[in-house]
Amino acid sequence: MTCKVCAGEWPPKDHKISELGLTVAYLHADQFFPGWTVLVLKRHATELFDLTREERSQLIEEVTEVSRTLAVVFDAIKINYELLGNQLPHIHWHLIPRLVDDQAPRDAVWTVRHKPKRLTPDARHERISLIRTHLKM
Ligand SMILES: [Zn+2]
Repeated sequence: MTCKVCAGEWPPKDHKISELGLTVAYLHADQFFPGWTVLVLKRHATELFDLTREERSQLIEEVTEVSRTLAVVFDAIKINYELLGNQLPHIHWHLIPRLVDDQAPRDAVWTVRHKPKRLTPDARHERISLIRTHLKM
């Protein structure tokens, strides 16, 4: 089975926020939850136990820095960290700021029925730039 990430089919290149050491951050196409970001491992691996100890440490540092950035930029009261891989096993974290006006603050985003919110290209570039300027990695 070909991997959509390794084949360059996902995430969309024009959603790229920044390249970190082991990962690349992308703005998620659905911005119903403002700031929803996906952090994708550059190399193909599907489980944390497939990584070396050093890679795991570096990965958690990158997850942490992107999360901190999203919390600041979007004034989040909580960040959700989701590493599932059921549909796409290549390691990618969903980092989702949950805001004070969240309509379902106790629920995981997957269970919140909503119409996906796609930004216009201009609004997307603006949001990506805003996140990028606050990243310290
Ligand atoms: Zn892959």
